[in-house]
Amino acid sequence: MSETALLVLAAGLFGLVLGSFLNVCIVRLPAEQSVVAPRSRCPKCGKPVEWRDNIPVLSWLLLGGKCRGCREPISALYPVVELAVGLLWAVLVWRNGLTLEALRGGLFGTLLLGIALTDAREYIIPNEFTWGGLVIALVLSAAGGLHALLLALLGGAVGFAVLWLVGVGGKWLFKEEAMGGGDIKMMAMVGAFLGWQGVLLTIFLGALAGTAIFLPLALAGRKKLVPFGVFLALGAAVTYLVGPSILQWYRRYLGVA
Ligand SMILES: [Zn+2]
Repeated sequence: MSETALLVLAAGLFGLVLGSFLNVCIVRLPAEQSVVAPRSRCPKCGKPVEWRDNIPVLSWLLLGGKCRGCREPISALYPVVELAVGLLWAVLVWRNGLTLEALRGGLFGTLLLGIALTDAREYIIPNEFTWGGLVIALVLSAAGGLHALLLALLGGAVGFAVLWLVGVGGKWLFKEEAMGGGDIKMMAMVGAFLGWQGVLLTIFLGALAGTAIFLPLALAGRKKLVPFGVFLALGAAVTYLVGPSILQWYRRYLGVA
C-alpha cells in the first residue's frame, strides 16, 4: 500500500473514533452531562455498553442495530455520524495531505455536524462547539502568523455582530426571539474559521436555504421553531468548499476584479 493510502486510511479511522465521540457529545452536551464519564449506556435498559460493542460502525452492524441487553433498536444515526466524520477526515487528508489545512477542515466539519444535529434534535447549540470551536480556530490561525490571527479575529467579530444585530432587529420587528444566542456564538466561530467575507456568505446561504424550506411551511400554517443553526452549518460547509470561487465570481460580476 502506498504511503498516501495509509495516511488516508489512518485519517479515516481517526475520523470514525472522533465521530463516535461526537455522538456522545451530541447526546450529552445539550443535557449538560459530562462527555467523559460515566460510560455510555443503552437509553432503553440502562445496560453499560461494553468495549466490544463500542467499535464505530462495526458494532452497530454486528448487533443488527439492536442493544445486546434488551434487543431494542439503536438509532442508525450513530453509525451514520461515525461514517460521515470518518469520510470527512479521509477525504481531507487525501486532498490536502497531512497538513494544517486538513486538520482545520476536519475540526471545522466535525463541529458543524455536531451543531447541526444538536440544533435539529433539541434546538440547542452547545457552547463547547461554539466557544470551543472559536478557540480552536484562533489557535490554528495563529500558526499562520499575526496577520492570519487578526483576520480570524475580525471574521469572528463580524459573524457575532451581524447575527446579534439580526437578533435585535428581529425581536423589535416580530416581538419575539428571532435569533438564539447559540446562533450568534456559532457565527463567531464560523467567522474565525472562514474570515469576514466567508461568514457573510455563510449567513446569506443559510438564510436562503432556511427561507426556501421554512417559508412554505410557515405559509401553510405549520409554523415551527426554525433550527437556524442547521442551515447556517450547511452554508458554512458550502462556503468552506466553494466560497472562494463564489466570491471571485461575485467580484467579477460587480466588475471590481
Ligand atoms: Zn438495551
